[in-house]
Amino acid sequence: MITVKNLSKKFGDLVVLRDISVEIKKGEVVSIIGPSGTGKSTFLRCLNLLEQPNGGMIQVGGVDVLDKKADVAKVRQKMNMVFQSFNLFAHLSVLENLTIGPIKLRGMSTADAELKSLELLKLVGLAEKADSYPDELSGGQKQRVAIARCLAMEPEVILFDEPTSALDPTMISEVLSVIRHLAKKGLTMVIVTHEMDFARDVSNRVFYMDEGLIYEQGTPQQIFENPQKKKTKAFINRIRNFNYQISSPDYDLYAMNAEIEAFCEKQILPNTTRQKVLLLVEEVLQLHHPYLQTMPLDITLAYSEKKETLEFLFETRGEAINPIDSELLPDELGLVIINNLVESIDYQREGDKNKLVVMLKKS
Ligand code: ADP
Ligand code: MG
Repeated sequence: MITVKNLSKKFGDLVVLRDISVEIKKGEVVSIIGPSGTGKSTFLRCLNLLEQPNGGMIQVGGVDVLDKKADVAKVRQKMNMVFQSFNLFAHLSVLENLTIGPIKLRGMSTADAELKSLELLKLVGLAEKADSYPDELSGGQKQRVAIARCLAMEPEVILFDEPTSALDPTMISEVLSVIRHLAKKGLTMVIVTHEMDFARDVSNRVFYMDEGLIYEQGTPQQIFENPQKKKTKAFINRIRNFNYQISSPDYDLYAMNAEIEAFCEKQILPNTTRQKVLLLVEEVLQLHHPYLQTMPLDITLAYSEKKETLEFLFETRGEAINPIDSELLPDELGLVIINNLVESIDYQREGDKNKLVVMLKKS
């Protein structure tokens, strides 16, 4: 369906895409992940001719789209794009947003376009909003309209550029559900996303982009469970785990809590779990308090969706100190609270490291 060979793109002196060669087959769902600024959007925009590449070749359904004679409008119709910021026409109703393309660009009759558009609005759960204006919709609804509008052009490929990153956390899943549904229907899709669990279960293949290249690609299992290359490993590790260092007793509790909350939000953990996590970290920090002056504390939090567990690691280096040794505690209240929250809590000494491993159940 899509063949890309040696694609390159520069902005002035900045080389964004170095040398990209990939093939995407009909019906494939490909997720593109990677740090921001690595050219993921630029890659999609080149496919869709919103940017003019500096070199290389792009074929879509056998047609060379970089050929000067290629019909740009036709290419964009074949390969329609959904943007992070929805890009709906504010002065048109939801239905008109959908019908304008088919009427103006594909010569469809108004009646046919409306019939078809209503069907698509049903598909994304928004038939009752047909006469509303974009302003009256939530972000999640706007994005679902944008997806329906994209489908109205009957594209062969849909490109999604971070379709959920402008949304409130509560609205992410309604949009992801719609995209999942489309994936099941066999549409060919290329999705740039930060939603890793989504990328893992919706895609046939995952591209990790870095250094202007498709740095590593593979099945979701290969990329998420067993990445081979150094930068991929580091990236996967960073997004799956929360890490925070505390190097003095006067640490900024509010900043740390905000980061923990952001992490929980990203993992879509319920509010009750978030509260438990915050309480647990605060109580464990209390146990470490006497040592923070001399021993920096490293907190790592990893969430496994499969096992529905949260695993915490509290790590210090230096002399052997077991922070849950009851003989060292001023009182046992903190430990009682902790024990009530967790599945297990274990102290381990490894080399010069003190490790406190805590498992918390999600619900
Ligand atoms: P990503 O989507 O992976 O975050 P982008 O493709 O948006 O990355 O951007 C890659 C790099 O190209 C960034 O350094 C960005 O600042 C730069 N860039 C993107 N678009 C333009 C542009 N139109 N003009 C100049 N630089 C750009
Ligand atoms: Mg981007």
